[in-house]
Amino acid sequence: MSTAIVWFRRDLRLTDNSALRAALASADSVLPVYIHDPAADREWAPGAASRWWLHHSLSALDAALRASGSRLVIRSGDTADELRALIAATGATQLHWNRLYEPRIMQRDASLKATLHETGIGVESHAGCLLHEPVQLQTGNGQPFRVFTPFWKVFLRDVVPAAPVVAPRKLPAPQNWPGSVSLQSLRLLPAQDWADGFSGWWTPGEAGALQQLRSFLKRAIGRYQSGRDYPSRTDVSYLSPHLHFGELSPRQIWHAVRGFAVGRAVFEADAQAYLRELGWREFAHHVLFNFPHTPNEPMYEKFRDFPWRKNYSELLRAWQQGCTGYPIVDAGMRELWATGWMHNRVRMIVASFLVKNLRIPWQEGARWFWGTLVDADLANNTMGWQWSAGCGADAAPYFRIFNPVLQSKKFDPDGEYLHRWLPELANLDGEALHAPWTHSTIDFPKPIVDYKASPEQALAAYARIKVNGD
Ligand code: FAD
Repeated sequence: MSTAIVWFRRDLRLTDNSALRAALASADSVLPVYIHDPAADREWAPGAASRWWLHHSLSALDAALRASGSRLVIRSGDTADELRALIAATGATQLHWNRLYEPRIMQRDASLKATLHETGIGVESHAGCLLHEPVQLQTGNGQPFRVFTPFWKVFLRDVVPAAPVVAPRKLPAPQNWPGSVSLQSLRLLPAQDWADGFSGWWTPGEAGALQQLRSFLKRAIGRYQSGRDYPSRTDVSYLSPHLHFGELSPRQIWHAVRGFAVGRAVFEADAQAYLRELGWREFAHHVLFNFPHTPNEPMYEKFRDFPWRKNYSELLRAWQQGCTGYPIVDAGMRELWATGWMHNRVRMIVASFLVKNLRIPWQEGARWFWGTLVDADLANNTMGWQWSAGCGADAAPYFRIFNPVLQSKKFDPDGEYLHRWLPELANLDGEALHAPWTHSTIDFPKPIVDYKASPEQALAAYARIKVNGD
């Protein structure tokens, strides 16, 4: 009886899983495996919030596998050693996984493929986490895209996402199960009780992801275009952590959204606006694949010498703790701490504030997000921060600086979001809520920086770089 190993990574689902399908087609039995090897990710090993999610997602995957007559074998250690040991223990003849596109992981996977091929086993990787392969799309000059709009135009012209494949009902188990460590022994859950509240917001795992998609289609897609910028509303999909961990595939979302809009002209613009955001996810992965230095360094060399503030640890701490004195920034940072997620509009505001008002390197913000977001994703996070700092692919122009007071008034006019996350401002409304320093009796941090004067230094520095770089 032949056995194929399916190595689950960030494709923690049974539906539309190319590796799983290929394994089923290539052998009599399937061995589902997860390998915990944080050393392989080096500096970009999952942060604390992501580990919380991963714990629960692995637990959900194991439950789903058991319902199909199988189970998840968990190993901990060097990936190559563990795979070799599993091949030896089971006599597996095939190994399948779905591709990821982070630079470090791609290098590791390429060398794994080469060494495992030598053992005589069939090793195959599959497309599964994106709608397009990053080598697939190029500019007319054969270069990778650096600007979203032309990327998206070519994407819509050339990429036809195939229909998703249904989950197998039964998974034939191998004759002997190799040893597995317990999920608890991976110690993924934070030692502090900080993340306990996350479970009130999220249901990690494939069933939770499908439920979230269904609820978005029913509840909010028809308001997506007009509502997605308002952080007090629930008009976005909240699918980002599910997508990051591959609990549903982008193809499933694509076809569900398209299917929902068919014959309902009223939803067409919202469906297109939503798919465009999925397009940004595709673009971010395309950029990371083609410019692998960008998680740590600006995409454009001329930004390397930007004169960041020195000795900024206290200001950074105030930003991290949501104590900057600017309500919209502090509400966002507290939402992040409480839920592991932050609304996209507010991510842009807090990022602009860190980089352009405080002049703290964007990498510090990216690091904090990496540890605290349940959807922390190297491609999306890198793109979001470089966009905000003005130094990356298709970045906001350097002179676009979000005014935290105007943004607050515009996108949270009634203060609903501010009141939700800043109970100490419960008695304020109107102008004063967006700028509480005008109310001396309120117990709220004083602004740590002058929001009107502080961008000037950033602007002057950006202008110098631009002049020198042109
Ligand atoms: P929806 O509005 O419902 O969008 C649907 C999906 O499209 C999202 O789940 C996401 O996969 C994708 N998407 C939406 N906006 C973007 C975008 N701007 N760039 C790339 N993909 C996008 N997103 C992450 O998934 N992980 C991150 O680590 C991350 N870090 C960010 C850091 C900064 C500074 C900024 C400005 C943005 C960041 N984003 C990140 C992008 C965006 O904020 C989130 O994807 C979005 O808020 C997730 O909520 P949602 O699923 O409800 O989004």
